[in-house]
Amino acid sequence: MATAPTTTAKAVKGGSFLLEDRAPDEVFTPEDFTDEQRQIGQMTEEFLTNEVLPQVEKIEHGDKKLLIELMHKAAELGLMGADVPEAYGGAGLDKVSSTIIAEKMARYASFAVSHGAHSGIGTLPIAYFGTEEQKKKYLPRLASTELISSYCLSEAEAGSDAMGLKTRADLAPDGKHWVLNGQKMWITNGAIADLFIVFAKVGGEKISCFIVEKGMPGFSVGPEEKKMGIKGSSTTPLFFDNAQVPAENLLHEIGRGHIVAFNTLNFGRFKLGAYCVGGGKYSLAETLRYAQERKAFGKSIAEFGLIQHKLAEMAIRLYAGESMIYRTAGMIDAALHAGGAGDAIQHAMKTLEEYAIECSANKVTASETVDYVVDEMVQVFGGYGFHQDYPAERAFRDARINRIFEGTNEINRLLIVGMLFKRALKGELPLLAAAKKVADELMSGPGTSSAPSGPLGAEAALVGASKKAFLFAAGVAGQKYMDKLADEQEVAGALADIVMDTYAAESALLRTQKIAARKGSAPLQTAATRVFVADALDRVEQNARTVLAACAEGDTLRAQLALLRRLLKREPPNTVALRRQVAHAALDANRYPF
Ligand SMILES: Cc1cc2nc3c(=O)[nH]c(=O)nc-3n(C[C@H](O)[C@H](O)[C@H](O)COP(=O)(O)OP(=O)(O)OC[C@H]3O[C@@H](n4cnc5c(N)ncnc54)[C@H](O)[C@@H]3O)c2cc1C
Repeated sequence: MATAPTTTAKAVKGGSFLLEDRAPDEVFTPEDFTDEQRQIGQMTEEFLTNEVLPQVEKIEHGDKKLLIELMHKAAELGLMGADVPEAYGGAGLDKVSSTIIAEKMARYASFAVSHGAHSGIGTLPIAYFGTEEQKKKYLPRLASTELISSYCLSEAEAGSDAMGLKTRADLAPDGKHWVLNGQKMWITNGAIADLFIVFAKVGGEKISCFIVEKGMPGFSVGPEEKKMGIKGSSTTPLFFDNAQVPAENLLHEIGRGHIVAFNTLNFGRFKLGAYCVGGGKYSLAETLRYAQERKAFGKSIAEFGLIQHKLAEMAIRLYAGESMIYRTAGMIDAALHAGGAGDAIQHAMKTLEEYAIECSANKVTASETVDYVVDEMVQVFGGYGFHQDYPAERAFRDARINRIFEGTNEINRLLIVGMLFKRALKGELPLLAAAKKVADELMSGPGTSSAPSGPLGAEAALVGASKKAFLFAAGVAGQKYMDKLADEQEVAGALADIVMDTYAAESALLRTQKIAARKGSAPLQTAATRVFVADALDRVEQNARTVLAACAEGDTLRAQLALLRRLLKREPPNTVALRRQVAHAALDANRYPF
């Protein structure tokens, strides 16, 4: 079921959204889905509804056989090898389609996590870095789930600090085997996997990657971890006790395992954003249903303003998250379609590396969005939100992991700023020149730009101002700390938050403008965008103030704060009325309303 690549989006440089303005028709949005992409979404949704959801209780109680059977069924529909090229037995789908699949899989978090570990981070290392022989040997069997896979980087003493891993690999004297010693921890699919993408240090020093098969001598899988959530997924430790791995199972090059690990994680983060948005939409639908059914003080609780505020805010944040995720998917597809020199798979990997900043931004924003959604879901359910017989309780527990794996949100925040500055210093992104230009512009006094016009003119101007606020604050922080910025984590974190809010706000804005241009108007999306931009700008201002106050003091700080205030000067819209509008639409639709 290969689909044509999505080409409506423009291929742009990763991170360049902070420096350049985009037109609505340059970004991909969910409204641009082709019929084929919609059908893929519908098929995945039906599979989840008809096959997976009836089995949730059994899977939650550890029925691994059933979990594997369902993975086989999903594979028959082409859902387990969406990102594997057709030449190797996969569906070879474009990234928008595989993002849609990830989003729909999130209907049941444990199944989604098992799906992601297998079809994403467990399969792509071989697709991207395998030799022709390795690809032919493994990829068709992975796409069909004859083999189930896992990604094995973390250790008990090395999670965020993954490169501190201690598992060791040495070539046996006869040169025919690698001998692996050590332990892995937290391996998703551990108990059901046949294949393990294992990172170990050759000679205790050179990080490398190996394809380990179940049953290889000296290799064993430990017991299930007792987790807070995603209890239907398998998470185990792995043990290597002089484990023998054939020499030809080295994946990529000795000492280049970190390249395999990090590029795979870029992809994992991008997909995780889609799983989070998908999970959030289902939780919102359950919340809307409950809010309309539950009566208090003689009315349905959905009639109370404070409940409507929550329902609207859930929908609005999901709208922004969804907008940034499909915008990113469209950019990736456009870059893939534009092609590059050399091997297509290598090009795919380079493309994901190019958008590493956006992938991290999606991961953090979407995982914090779904956590907001499920937290408010519990609140709307009241006491029943705290009861295991109601859906909020599991949704709340299941969502929490998303801020921890695929790089914690702290690590991803640091990566966003680290990558931006690295690209700037390498001359790949003219961040420093742009920061200087903004500082000069601000210091030269109020500009003569015309007053914003049109339904979202003020919001468009604010998104532009948000980019300038980032450049101004980043410029000040860069000058103060230079290459030591990474040591000032709170400053880097505040800058990362501005980056993410800017990307989310602009993605929602451009999407709404695109819909309005096509349909003549987009009242609901406009209401959501106005609320999101207004709140995002408050956060941007607060974060920029934090950065400036950490970098300067006295008159200098006061002058900088005055410039910032002038840059971000705005009148708040009536977010109470706008949220009510969104809440009413969501309640009428009884689901995510966009
Ligand atoms: C259910 C589950 C499934 C998982 N699946 C997999 C899998 O399939 N494969 C795999 O390889 N791993 C997997 N993991 C492991 C996961 O990726 C790690 O737990 C995660 O990377 C965090 O590592 P850690 O647990 O060692 O926490 P730590 O690294 O000890 O972090 C603890 C806290 O310190 C913070 N911190 C750490 N370093 C810094 C820093 N430099 N600056 C600021 N803050 C910092 C973290 O953000 C976090 O808040 C899984 C984990 C869980 C719980």
